[in-house]
Amino acid sequence: MTYRAWFKCIRADCGQTYPLDAIVYNCRKCGALLEVEHDMAALAARTAAGWKELFEERYRSTALPYSSGVWGKKEWVLPEIEDTNIVSLHEGATPLLWAERFGKAIGLPDVWIKLCGTTHTGSFKDLGMTVLVSQVKQMMARGAPIKAVACASTGDTSAALAAYCAAAGIQAVVLLPRGKISIAQLIQPISNGALVLSLDTDFDGCMRLVQQITRDETIYLANSMNSLRIEGQKTVGIEIVQQFGWQVPDVIIIPGGNLGNVSALGKGLLMLKQLGLVDRLPRIVVAQAERANPLYRAYLRNFETFEPVQAQKTLASAIQIGNPVSYEKAVRTLKQFGGIVEQATEEELADAAALGDRCGLFNCPHTGVALAVLIKLLRAGKIDKAERVVVISTAHGLKFVEMKVDYHQRKLEMPCRYANEPVELPARLDAVKEALDKALASRASGA
Ligand SMILES: *Cc1c(COP(=O)(O)O)cnc(C)c1O
Ligand SMILES: [Zn+2]
Repeated sequence: MTYRAWFKCIRADCGQTYPLDAIVYNCRKCGALLEVEHDMAALAARTAAGWKELFEERYRSTALPYSSGVWGKKEWVLPEIEDTNIVSLHEGATPLLWAERFGKAIGLPDVWIKLCGTTHTGSFKDLGMTVLVSQVKQMMARGAPIKAVACASTGDTSAALAAYCAAAGIQAVVLLPRGKISIAQLIQPISNGALVLSLDTDFDGCMRLVQQITRDETIYLANSMNSLRIEGQKTVGIEIVQQFGWQVPDVIIIPGGNLGNVSALGKGLLMLKQLGLVDRLPRIVVAQAERANPLYRAYLRNFETFEPVQAQKTLASAIQIGNPVSYEKAVRTLKQFGGIVEQATEEELADAAALGDRCGLFNCPHTGVALAVLIKLLRAGKIDKAERVVVISTAHGLKFVEMKVDYHQRKLEMPCRYANEPVELPARLDAVKEALDKALASRASGA
């Protein structure tokens, strides 16, 4: 069986298509975003049971490239890529963790965390970047005039682009908002040999510039408006369902900035349903930081109008985006999945991340936004305590230690309810014993 895929304009009244090796990011006819469309009839020729069996066989095997969580679903992702052009860093197949103690703390027994940060560059961006860079490698091998691949980033996209390009021997160019990303995120593309352009603007400003420099076909655009990335990212929803033994959870909560990821989540889940692997869909919740909440505002207006906002500085720096590129796709997803959008304040997100950490997690602030939104929706009765809820943890907490340090040193303008300050002592047994007695006594009394 040969499987095929192509780009298609997302506007139903346009529907223009382009081959996947065309250098095109927006529809040339109407300007809308594109998406990858698959030959669903060809995919449907294999039964649902047949797909499940194939995916199970490959999952976490050692057979390259199928051992990757993304490439184990190759036929659904990028069917026409040659295996020799696949650039993989063993992305995906990340843990789905039952957060037992966190669930107890908030009164929701069946809560799970999809740890997308447990991956090569520490964020879910690896899932999409393996697809994009593999396609670029194939295009270059076939003579495309591409000299470099570029992106604007709030820190994680640039880390992923730099790593996959370095693994493939392709030049990466990253445009970053100066002083607005973490040290870990900055050192990743530097270490991987990318051309790092640190600009005196915010993410939206970087995004405008990268679209201009990639008009020339020699520099290929790697932002998520390039729908190749969505194809890799969509495996997260498929993988969650697979990890539950092909059972669909009731609710999936995902933090949203540029809104590519929520669109991808929806796309993967819809494919599962269309091909008969599941018979229902979960509800999807997008969690936004109150200081960068254009989707939340549009949701309050029933998505009748969209207005970009000037994103304010937030601890959740990877979602500090005021003019999300994938807005239209995200709204379509939310309408298909009984979607809810909720927001979290700085205090809510920091406390929720810290509460999770106290229960054995190690959350990035964006995961904190999602956890805070979960707590709010549970209290508001919009999520029932009998439901099975999955929170998508988008990055590893170790990429965002500055925020945690400030929190535990109570340097943030908030109560820092769960701050845990280290006890500084002289190196003497009596002092250590005294500190131990005090700490264990207060723990026993439940303080
Ligand atoms: C990119 C990113 C997001 C937001 O994803 P979008 O597709 O831009 O909505 C959330 N969390 C982290 C850690 C990210 O890197
Ligand atoms: Zn179009």
